[in-house]
Amino acid sequence: MGSFYNVCIYRLPVGKSIVTPRSSCGSCGHELGPTDLVPVLSYLFLRGRCRYCHTKFSPRYMFVELLTGVLFTMNYLVLGYTWELLIGLILSSIVIIISFIDIDHHIILDRFPVLLLLLGIIYHVWLTDMTFLNIFLGGVIGFGFFFVIAIVSVMGGGDIKLMGALGILLGFPNIIVSIYLGFIIGGIYFMPAFIRKIRSKSKVKVEVPFGPFLAIGGLTTFLFGNEIINFYTNMFMG
Ligand SMILES: [Zn+2]
Repeated sequence: MGSFYNVCIYRLPVGKSIVTPRSSCGSCGHELGPTDLVPVLSYLFLRGRCRYCHTKFSPRYMFVELLTGVLFTMNYLVLGYTWELLIGLILSSIVIIISFIDIDHHIILDRFPVLLLLLGIIYHVWLTDMTFLNIFLGGVIGFGFFFVIAIVSVMGGGDIKLMGALGILLGFPNIIVSIYLGFIIGGIYFMPAFIRKIRSKSKVKVEVPFGPFLAIGGLTTFLFGNEIINFYTNMFMG
């Protein structure tokens, strides 16, 4: 799956088909055979180079494959062999693909929030007993919060739609945990660059891909949201 997500990350934003043609070396154009495409192992055995022209491949291909394996395993450990696991795996896949496309191109393709919205609806109809009000509130808070940020500051339209769809999937109050985590993780990551910018007194507006952090916050909340809420409730209310 991780291999396939690499193809999606690379081809979807530039409008190429993810089915054909087969993968080839970006440098010499040689079509890659089955032994070149074994996840992680091919990269290690060929020392990250093309077998034919010896150009170095980005280690990111291997990283995406490893990350997919790690996230899938984590989903299984948390959710066990359940239908929720299927939802978790699809959510993780969407998170991986949108994150790397956002890092590369600073966009979130519309089809992903739509996919996430459908996933959320299927999830609730099929597997949860969340009330309509909580689902609705989740969507409104996710969408509304980032819509307001977009008015007063910078926030991409893709992020707004993403959080609206995540809000439907996670519902209320978990969407708040998701937003909170997204800002904490993103804040920690961008803090050094932010401090440098203040020190250098530069007036240049930096556009940061915030999508990955929001997506990671959403996935973490899907897996651990209730535990996080319980932890805070116990801490503050005894
Ligand atoms: Zn090559």
